[in-house]
Amino acid sequence: MYKNLIDMFKENEGKGAAGAFNVHCFEMVPAMIKAAEELNVPIILQTSLGTAEYIGFAPLIAAVKALAEKSSVNVALHMDHCKDIEALKKAIDCGYSSVMYDGSALPIEENIANTKEVVGYAHAHGVSVEGEVGSIGGAEDGIVVDKDAAMYTRPEDALHFASETGADALAVSIGTTHGQYKSKAKINYELLEELKAKLGDTGLVLHGGTGVSDEDMKRCVREGMKKINVGTELNKSYIEVVAETFTAEGVTPLTSLRTLLGPANDRMKEIVTEKALLFKLD
Ligand SMILES: [Zn+2]
Repeated sequence: MYKNLIDMFKENEGKGAAGAFNVHCFEMVPAMIKAAEELNVPIILQTSLGTAEYIGFAPLIAAVKALAEKSSVNVALHMDHCKDIEALKKAIDCGYSSVMYDGSALPIEENIANTKEVVGYAHAHGVSVEGEVGSIGGAEDGIVVDKDAAMYTRPEDALHFASETGADALAVSIGTTHGQYKSKAKINYELLEELKAKLGDTGLVLHGGTGVSDEDMKRCVREGMKKINVGTELNKSYIEVVAETFTAEGVTPLTSLRTLLGPANDRMKEIVTEKALLFKLD
């Protein structure tokens, strides 16, 4: 079924974290949902504003909803990292079930005021909201955050933010970085524990999942992460597989494009399966 994060988290309580996978092009969508169905786990499909504009809000939402309605698992469509309140309102009006307002670069009071506005609008439409406090560095969708500008989430700020805004989920900075695929992150578990104790009902979100080792991923889930984002690995692997299939011997202009894209879509299914298994509590 098509769900927002509030209902998805509730139904997934005690079962682990929900995986949030960045859709970079439409071809990825059916493969990702299929992987979740085979494991019987919920799945969050998320897009940047750029991807939503590339595919088109209406066709993207209509297709995800159609697949979700006939699916055996819960599916959410979430707008990832968006700084534009008007664009988020458009996403909500068009039918996204969840959105993230990212005011992490702003002074905290401004971040709180803007997030509150988005939460008011979203909740009136049955849509959930993720906010961000602290700054997760790195590059995402071509936008580079200065490594020095990245900083840990301060627990007192997170608590203040959560109680003021009423956001349903909160992206926290505990050592991961966006776009990290060459090395693995060092997670600050002491901070995670403190955030978990302070935040209670607000779902903690881990960004930069590509740079987290399998062992750390499992531990983050055990320690209470509710949503884990994976983006870079999908983009990187799609490029790798497509580069191989498109340049393989025997490919001609008459070769079926579907045949060439199939292996990349299959790879997406494999990655979602591998990650979702780590997000599931035994
Ligand atoms: Zn992120």
